[in-house]
Amino acid sequence: MTPYPLPAAELKGEGMTSQRARDRLANSLKEEGIRDLRVVDVIRNTPRHHFIDQALHSRAYENTALPIGHGQTISQPWVVARMTEALLEFGMPQKVLEIGTGSGYQAAVLAALVPQVFTVERIEELLRQARRRFRQLGLANLRSRYDDGKLGWPDEAPFDAIILTAAGDTIPTRILDQLSPTGVLVAPVGSPSRQTLIRMRGDGQGDFIQEELGAVSFVPLLGGIG
Ligand code: SAH
Repeated sequence: MTPYPLPAAELKGEGMTSQRARDRLANSLKEEGIRDLRVVDVIRNTPRHHFIDQALHSRAYENTALPIGHGQTISQPWVVARMTEALLEFGMPQKVLEIGTGSGYQAAVLAALVPQVFTVERIEELLRQARRRFRQLGLANLRSRYDDGKLGWPDEAPFDAIILTAAGDTIPTRILDQLSPTGVLVAPVGSPSRQTLIRMRGDGQGDFIQEELGAVSFVPLLGGIG
């Protein structure tokens, strides 16, 4: 059973957006080291074709990033899976902040797993489209905001988990300040050509345990609103 209120035909997709294509993607995520089966199942069940332009529907369940306009991309499913499992590894966060809504796909994956998702985007048109998708999918536990995500979402802080889906050369301190004392943050950090996925975990005493989770490639984290 699908939890989404869209017409079954549109959700299921056809041809390359079929259940078979989704199963293939889910299997390839497992083969490529994604261990959290809750995450694999959510990716299997989330209609990724719904988050991209119709012209690209036939590629929706390929394990690649795809353009979403405004020079931005919907992340590669493997990266979405890896970041999501890294956020969930120490327990289920109740309140999650995402910086960089983009297509809304990563936010929708999170909303299927955690009680509350907050997401911030600096390009108004992308946010408008993402909001329409959230409404069509009936994602009621997701709130979004048009703002510079480098400021986080102070009124809703603290968050148990924070995910950045755009890369800066450092993690903005205002965002780190909004992480709960034992919260988990996952973010790509580095120059446009060379980035590492970083996980920071609060130790409860005001310090962080930092780990590197491998090389990734993201669009840049920009300042201000677009
Ligand atoms: N999570 C998205 C990935 C989109 S790409 C998805 O699943 O589709 C990253 C997004 O981050 C882009 O839409 C870009 O506009 C946005 N972004 C970059 N800098 C930002 C900032 N300072 N505040 C908010 N969003 C930002």
